[in-house]
This record gives sequence, C-alpha cells and structure tokens, in this order.
Amino acid sequence: DLKLRTRSLDVSYTNSKTGAEVMALSDINLEIEDGEFICIVGPSGCGKSTFLNTVAGLIKPSRGSILLDEEEILGPGRDRSVVFQSPSLFPWRTVLDNVLYGLEIQKRITDQTRKLAEGYIEMVGLKGYENHYPHELSGGMQQRVNLARALTVEPSLLLLDEPLSALDAQTREFMQEEILRIWEETKKTSIFITHQIDEAIYLADRVFVFGARPGRVVEIVEVNIPRPRN
Ligand code: ADP
Ligand code: ADP
Repeated sequence: DLKLRTRSLDVSYTNSKTGAEVMALSDINLEIEDGEFICIVGPSGCGKSTFLNTVAGLIKPSRGSILLDEEEILGPGRDRSVVFQSPSLFPWRTVLDNVLYGLEIQKRITDQTRKLAEGYIEMVGLKGYENHYPHELSGGMQQRVNLARALTVEPSLLLLDEPLSALDAQTREFMQEEILRIWEETKKTSIFITHQIDEAIYLADRVFVFGARPGRVVEIVEVNIPRPRN
C-alpha cells in the first residue's frame, strides 16, 4: 500500500543576488497513508508550494528525504501528477487531446487508455465536450479538463496546488462538491493546497497546518465531519 513519508526534510533556496540561504521548510516529518485526502493550509510564504513541488520531485531537499513506498523520490515520475492553480491546457488541442497529453508523453496511448481518458472526461462532467477547444469552456470546466488529464495517467499520488483558487466563489463551491464525488469514487491519495480553511475542512481527511517561517508543520487536524454522500 502506498505510503508517503518525509524524514527530517529541509528545503532551502539560495538567494540569487546575495547567495544567502533562505529556509523554506524545516524538519518536516510526515506520513500519508494510501487513499488519504490531505489538505495543507498556512500563511502565505510558509512553504506549502515548496512542499508540494519537492514531493513532485521538482525541487531537491537540502536535507532529509521523501519516500514513496519506501523508495526515495529523486525527481519527477509518472507515479505523481501535479495540478496547478491555472489550467495549463494547449489552446490548439481539443479537450480529449489535452486529456490524452499525459499518456502521450508517457507513450501509453492505446485503445484501452483512450477509453480511460474518455471515462475520466465523463467523471469530471464533460461528456459531450471531447471535441471542444479550451477557449470554448469556462474556467471551471478548463480546470476539470486539467483534473481529468491528471487522473488519466493513473498516478499513485495526485498533487494539487490551489486548483480552485482562480475560480469565482460559486464555481469553486461547485467544484469542491465535484471533487468530493470524484474522490469517493477513485480514492486517489491526494495532497491539496488551499489557503481557505473551510475548503480544507470540507475536503480533507486530515489537514496539515503549516506555520510561518521557517516552514514547519505546527498542527495536524483530523477531520471527522461526515461527508455528504448521495
Ligand atoms: P507558500 O506556498 O506557502 O506561499 P512557498 O513554498 O511558495 O510558500 O515559499 C516558501 C518560502 O520560500 C517563502 O519565503 C518564499 O519567499 C521562498 N521561496 C519560494 N520560492 C523561492 C525561489 N524560487 N527562490 C527563493 N526563495 C523562494
Ligand atoms: P463550471 O460549470 O465548470 O463550474 P461555470 O460555473 O463557470 O463552470 O460554468 C459556466 C456555465 O457553463 C454555466 O452556465 C454552467 O451551467 C455551464 N456548464 C458547466 N459545466 C457544464 C457541463 N458539464 N455541461 C453543461 N453545461 C455546463
């Protein structure tokens, strides 16, 4: 079973002008179990994105390590998908071709994975939009395409960096419900950054609260609010 574990994780940046080290994460020791939905909250600059990007393998720890199923994360891998705040869709590709992009770079397009992509498009509520282009879709719908692409490569871990923050309040609420529904279905282990505590409480099994500099986890909140189920 999937388990993500960080051991004495430090991450620092080097200021390009002064050469000084800026500590962004300090002594992070966390465990995430298979199927958990984790939200990370904390003040701006507390290291949320740094944590996510380090798990994604885009940043190297300056000390300590991250283990995914006992294997150290040394760089990006197909076992992890990242969704950022703004949907990064190719404007010249249709919804289906955008969703297939992840599989394409992994050279995994077959009839079977194509079906999978169509299934995820349906799951995010965009059946019938396969041949539409991004500019024909609302922001919320574009972010759903992004989500479908991330799910289609079937990562063991989904990393979401404020995926709903760019949306208006109404769309965001709608998407929160959608995400709950999709996660009830997929049970995908996820780490979701948000600066909204209500969003975190609504979505998460556990909330990791990061404190101010240097980034540390100051509290881990177990969320026991029963989720709405249909
Ligand atoms: P959050 O996502 O919680 O807002 P970040 O992870 O973006 O926090 O940033 C954590 C700290 O690291 C902040 O002090 C920020 O200024 C610093 N930082 C982030 N990215 C860089 C970078 N590329 N170079 C230098 N410092 C950075
Ligand atoms: P989203 O619906 O993705 O949350 P918006 O609320 O901005 O994004 O949607 C803008 C318009 O597009 C709304 O009128 C909404 O009803 C419509 N819309 C969104 N998703 C769908 C869908 N899957 N099928 C039909 N219409 C949709």
